[in-house]
Amino acid sequence: MKKNLFVALSFITILIQAQESPNIILMIGDGMGLTQISTGMYANNNQTALEDFSYVGLSKTYAFDKLVTDSAASGTAMASGVKTLNGVIGIDSKNVPQKSILEICAEQDYKTALIVTSSIVHATPASFYAKVHSRRQYEDIALQLSEHYVDLFVGGGKKHFIAREDKRNLLNEMDEYTFVNSIREFGRSNVNKLGYITYDDEPPALLKGRKPALDELTKIGLEKMKAKGKPFFMMIEGSQIDWGAHANEMEYVISEFKEFDKTIQAVLEFAKADGNTLVIVTADHETGGLSLLGGNISDGKMEGKFNTEGHSASMVPVFSYGPSSELFSGIYENTAIFDKMLKAVESN
Ligand code: MG
Ligand code: ZN
Repeated sequence: MKKNLFVALSFITILIQAQESPNIILMIGDGMGLTQISTGMYANNNQTALEDFSYVGLSKTYAFDKLVTDSAASGTAMASGVKTLNGVIGIDSKNVPQKSILEICAEQDYKTALIVTSSIVHATPASFYAKVHSRRQYEDIALQLSEHYVDLFVGGGKKHFIAREDKRNLLNEMDEYTFVNSIREFGRSNVNKLGYITYDDEPPALLKGRKPALDELTKIGLEKMKAKGKPFFMMIEGSQIDWGAHANEMEYVISEFKEFDKTIQAVLEFAKADGNTLVIVTADHETGGLSLLGGNISDGKMEGKFNTEGHSASMVPVFSYGPSSELFSGIYENTAIFDKMLKAVESN
């Protein structure tokens, strides 16, 4: 009799586990087109963590009003599943504010996190929590984050919270949150809502000394999310691959890619150990119209040519691993990344 009960309970446990919602980790390399990946991979001794992914797809990045998108329109497309005008965050082309995948997940009892190497109010992270007509409304975006419920966030831009035109100190107003000032404090902190604002303004390039490393922040962030005992949605951005390409500086692009690649490696290791984590790695657009024209794998020196100091319109790759990862093969609109993530959440 006891044995039967044990068997029955084991079955129920297995059933519950099978129905658990998957963690979703969306990793965006800003400006990380296929050439940035190729360049970074060859410069990294011909290796990238992206080689371990199960499926590869291609995403059409154009905006509602322009063939060449910016990070606001493309961030909104992936976050909320709508094409909108360049510069606009979280609002569609008919002026209707949209719920983001982060917000939809939160409604389904997910925990949520954002970790970026730009300021936390920059267009890409803002697409997941803010609704503004211009990405330049940094103070409004900061205010919306202060009124949001994201459980954990890491990024620069403190000045938009504390040195404001309205004289408010949003960090003081965010009394549900604990703010930490070092990676040690970040690692030790064991609170419900956690913010780590890494720089007063935009964080510097890795080549100019940016700390802490994105992969270290991500590993800690993943432990914290896992410890909450609920499914989670996390967006991690390698923000400055784009900035290196805007500057037309190969070494800037390569160094930022390498850090992002290490972060992808860390996320993939987490996902493999966890078994119920969907990982998606993509870009919002290509930057620089980069062509890779020569170089050497042996010394890691790459020779290329940038065709613009802006973005380009070419499709960008999408890599996926984990439950529902098969949905991400093929060619589709960037808005479909939202649809596919939603499907992954709802498939449970
Ligand atoms: Mg960005
Ligand atoms: Zn850009």
